[in-house]
Amino acid sequence: MTRIEFLGTGTSHGIPVIGCHCPVCRSADPRDKRWRSSIYVTRGSTHVVIDTGYEFRLQALRAGIESLDGVLYTHAHSDHLMGLDDLRVFTDKRKLPIYSSSATLSAIERVFPYAFKDWQYKGVPSLQPVEVVERMPFSVGEIGFVPIPVIHGAMRILGYRFGSAAYITDASDILMEENQEALSGVRTLMIGALRDREHWSHFTFSQAVEAAKAIGVEAVYFTHMNHETSHADIERRFRGIAAPAYDTLVLEVDDE
Ligand SMILES: [Zn+2]
Ligand SMILES: [Zn+2]
Ligand SMILES: [Zn+2]
Repeated sequence: MTRIEFLGTGTSHGIPVIGCHCPVCRSADPRDKRWRSSIYVTRGSTHVVIDTGYEFRLQALRAGIESLDGVLYTHAHSDHLMGLDDLRVFTDKRKLPIYSSSATLSAIERVFPYAFKDWQYKGVPSLQPVEVVERMPFSVGEIGFVPIPVIHGAMRILGYRFGSAAYITDASDILMEENQEALSGVRTLMIGALRDREHWSHFTFSQAVEAAKAIGVEAVYFTHMNHETSHADIERRFRGIAAPAYDTLVLEVDDE
């Protein structure tokens, strides 16, 4: 079994939005508090996080993360990246590998140059960049991952397949033709779905459902949602088709 915990399910500004008085931002339902999108994946003794947004420290404390074998990045937008400095607690004894495309790794090294220097100032994270290639499988401990290229507005970024699950956030096109084989057999899809209104770089709820249908999955979980729709509303409207994820939701999926 592979365990997945949603550390965050919100879009870039997080929910509640600073200064916003809309019903979702003022909601008393804890599932309407959406921190920046990230998941924590564990299998056996292997622990991996995908993306480290602004709340990474709070998310790690809440989820009880005590060790990490690697961090995967989908892209270098700040809502997926800016918690990176807090990885330092996992790098006391050894460099922590971080995995992504060469473009994303270069962007990360520009933002956090001190984390990649050979001389080390005490108290900085010590990271080992590992470049991954689209659709070329790689392993972190006991977990095998396949990087899935997707389009995010004007960018080509990565989602990740692992076993029977796939995590694809921040997408406006999942490039079904080229990814057909890499996505075949995926039964649980976690997919970015921003809102109802169209957006140039993110799927709407219905577009995310269409993408899930194209893959042919059994279970669909929305993530990276904004503040225009409450958890309860999304749940009611998409019952039987897709479910909104929420921060702290745990899924258990088959390894293969
Ligand atoms: Zn994002
Ligand atoms: Zn709001
Ligand atoms: Zn993005």
